Amino acid sequence: MKNNSSTKKYVYFFGAGKADGNESMKNLLGGKGANLAEMAGHPKLQLPVPPGFTISTDVCTYYYEHQQSYPEKLPLLVTNALKSVEKMMGKKFGDTHNPLLLSVRSGARRSMPGMMDTVLDIGLNDDTIQGLIRQSGNEHFAYDAYRRLVMMYADVVMEKAAGIEPKNGKGIRKLLDEKLASVKQAQGYSSDTELTVPELKTLVKEFKAIVKKVLGTPFPDDPYQQLWGSIGGVFGSWNGKRAIDYRRIEKIPNEWGTAVNVQAMVFGNLGNDSATGVAFTRNPGTGENKFYGEYLVNAQGEDVVAGTRTPAPINAYSKNSQSDQLETLEKLMPKIYKELNTIQHKLETHYKDMQDIEFTIEKGKLYMLQCRVGKRNGVAAVRMATDMFSEGLIDATTAILRVAPNQLVELLLPMLDPAVEMATKPIAKGLPAGPGGAKGRVVFSSAEAVEWAAKGEKVILVREETSPDDIDGMHKSQAILTSKGGMTSHAALVARGWGKCCIVGCSDIEINQETKSFTTKDNAIVKEGDLISLNGTKGLVYQIDMPLVATDLNKNKSYKKLMHLVDQIKLMGVRANAETPKDAAQALSFGAEGIGLFRTEHMFYGEASEQPLFLLRKMIMSKTATERTNALNELFVYVKKDIKDTMEVMKGLPVTIRLLDPPLNEFVPHDTEKLRRLSKELNIPLALLQRRVLALEENNPMLGHRGVRVGISHPDITEMQVRAIFEASAEIIKSGKKAFPEIMVPVTCSVNELIHQKEIVDRVYGEVCAKMKMKNIPYLYGTMIEIPRAALLADKMAQSADFFSFGTNDLTQMSFGFSRDDIGGFLPNYLSQKILAEDPFQTIDQEAVGELIQLGTDRGRKTKKQLKVGICGEHGGDPASVKFCHRIGMNYVSCSPFRVPIARLAAAQAAVEFGKINK
Ligand code: ADP
Ligand code: MG
Ligand code: MG
Repeated sequence: MKNNSSTKKYVYFFGAGKADGNESMKNLLGGKGANLAEMAGHPKLQLPVPPGFTISTDVCTYYYEHQQSYPEKLPLLVTNALKSVEKMMGKKFGDTHNPLLLSVRSGARRSMPGMMDTVLDIGLNDDTIQGLIRQSGNEHFAYDAYRRLVMMYADVVMEKAAGIEPKNGKGIRKLLDEKLASVKQAQGYSSDTELTVPELKTLVKEFKAIVKKVLGTPFPDDPYQQLWGSIGGVFGSWNGKRAIDYRRIEKIPNEWGTAVNVQAMVFGNLGNDSATGVAFTRNPGTGENKFYGEYLVNAQGEDVVAGTRTPAPINAYSKNSQSDQLETLEKLMPKIYKELNTIQHKLETHYKDMQDIEFTIEKGKLYMLQCRVGKRNGVAAVRMATDMFSEGLIDATTAILRVAPNQLVELLLPMLDPAVEMATKPIAKGLPAGPGGAKGRVVFSSAEAVEWAAKGEKVILVREETSPDDIDGMHKSQAILTSKGGMTSHAALVARGWGKCCIVGCSDIEINQETKSFTTKDNAIVKEGDLISLNGTKGLVYQIDMPLVATDLNKNKSYKKLMHLVDQIKLMGVRANAETPKDAAQALSFGAEGIGLFRTEHMFYGEASEQPLFLLRKMIMSKTATERTNALNELFVYVKKDIKDTMEVMKGLPVTIRLLDPPLNEFVPHDTEKLRRLSKELNIPLALLQRRVLALEENNPMLGHRGVRVGISHPDITEMQVRAIFEASAEIIKSGKKAFPEIMVPVTCSVNELIHQKEIVDRVYGEVCAKMKMKNIPYLYGTMIEIPRAALLADKMAQSADFFSFGTNDLTQMSFGFSRDDIGGFLPNYLSQKILAEDPFQTIDQEAVGELIQLGTDRGRKTKKQLKVGICGEHGGDPASVKFCHRIGMNYVSCSPFRVPIARLAAAQAAVEFGKINK
């Protein structure tokens, strides 16, 4: 449908109670344009929005498909829309008596804070400014607007969109900023507003001269050239480096394109009865249902976000340690505050979600410049969702969809050890912009953050303020600390979106870029590479390496409420992978409904593993049947106890116990001391033992003698384990408690393997029942499906299995032919070159591995209708994979205990999105 460009509308008007577009048209108008239309035109809102029009994303698509040119009829459409704006404002663009000024703003489907560019005050030149001065009676304001225009236009249009690489990395904005700073410093001013009219006039002249010298072309005086230059600049910024970086991190498709909003300017910098601000309908840091925001008197939009002046709180609730002396908007302009408060309430009720709003007050009149669904951290997301549900604003399913499963990770975020923190004096205090605790080595630039992180260092990025250029380094840092900026600054906004620990506006520290260090007000010096710790919940900085501890999720009331809703809605079970009583208890407290993977071999690693490992080695190295039986009998005691302890904690919930899985050679001792002890115990000469070690070596152990293959060559190993499982269960049941083991055979590829092992299971089962004098012990017998052959032959496998558990790690490895342990060498390339869209070890490759899983499930159930199907492995905690498992009708997923809440939420979301699956 490329050639219907002549029938497309392209330009959408909004203003004065009317709008061509509305909120549902985000794909076409971008988020900003669609919401401006909604605020202006929706009958229930009719908010004071300065009039303007949106040039649609279709034009952006056209622009990139046609060598950066526009549809033929666009100029006429723009001229007509501009005429309507002029009429409404009673001003004319480019007029020397009563000039209309414009803003040109970008806006993609999804908000990309600060990523793309805006140009304000378009239409000013040495002639039109005379009209503006006469109209406003405020020469200071007019020149202030003029110098802003020159700076923004030079930066966005003449440098970035033109693709000019700044010399020495110093862009034109930086150069002009330095010029401005030098004038302020020479006069001893602390704020831009102190500049006098003559100083501003000179500044504009000097700005223009710098622009011409550095960029080679003069700043355009023609208002229409400024307008079209800015429109092109916004379209161009869609493919700027920052925007591309941001899209990569946030996974926003490059094809979406941006819209351009052209809007009449309103001025917050017309004096002390004017202001500009940013606010949230609820606190985005905690989720509390309180109107929260910041504003600046006599300032233009950018100033609040840029963090150049400390913004004041809009109301008492929004005060913080930096701003508690400043006058609130509520006090300063009570009538306007009341109006704003009514509007914010209207907006939240209308959108049924927390809104992030921008407003400007021009000479005592309030204007709304933007609204959008506000970013929030995980803690706030959970609170808002459950509060809004309790308030009756949203229903249960909406509440569940409001929290991204991965946001729950933030509720589990470690915090600084409270005991150590209590005993330590902070070296600085700033604003708590991103909760949780973090520690790391100090770096002072985004580039260094990236570099150090690549070397495996944990870093904290320390800056005066951050800008969209820092996005990569911010992403790679454990936390962000800025000396300037408020709670709505760039750093705060971005950290909130990512749920990262962040402190902003920490004026206690002074950064010296040259010596790469910062000094606190008590003269503590912190240099690059020094370890510091941050408490992002309180805004405190410590000059020590403080331990981090886990938080207690179950004390969070909103979390409990959310999970209550989750359990009412989700249909699929969630289990945990756990092998110790401690992990099992942890899993239960996170809501696990069983254990989906108990790895028997865990007892041979780590804590208290020495003796069992020794016995295992003894068993492996033994040659005669008697040697082997003796070793197995000794080992049996440990295995039984290990299984019993964890099963007891699970109180009769299913526990899937996997028989020994790793290649035996993983357990073979190589150091001579250990071999010597073995040689004594087994009464075998050392040299012979060493020969046996050699004989066990394999070229490719992952595909070697492991899993069920060991059980086939050495049935007595299977027998010992199965006996341990049944005896443990029998003892638990005899003591009046419940036990429900599921015996799982790993690495199978043929039903004959299962039949072979089942004979052992049946025999041992009979023996244990007789020994324990029990009629029966409940259990299931099943297998892991992790070899593609097993998936394809699932109908046969199901003849000898009550359940399947897809081992998606190995299944992925064997489907792709990617060695899990060696992907580091090539996978990053595959991802950056988009040969693969995602890492298949993190999220199930639904195309192929997913098809094997689906086909395996379906074929298995054809043989056995009641076949229980689940997955275990890392994918069980990945929200997208969990949703996939729901969709194909699995009974459960199993993941590590800490991912259980995430999987539960994802499962509930899947139930909302896909409904009940008929198996
Ligand atoms: P972003 O997408 O980064 O929020 P915006 O397009 O919202 O960028 O604009 C940047 C700043 O300019 C904001 O603070 C906004 O309020 C201000 N601004 C945009 N349009 C106007 C206008 N018509 N009048 C006054 N200020 C404006
Ligand atoms: Mg904005
Ligand atoms: Mg495996």
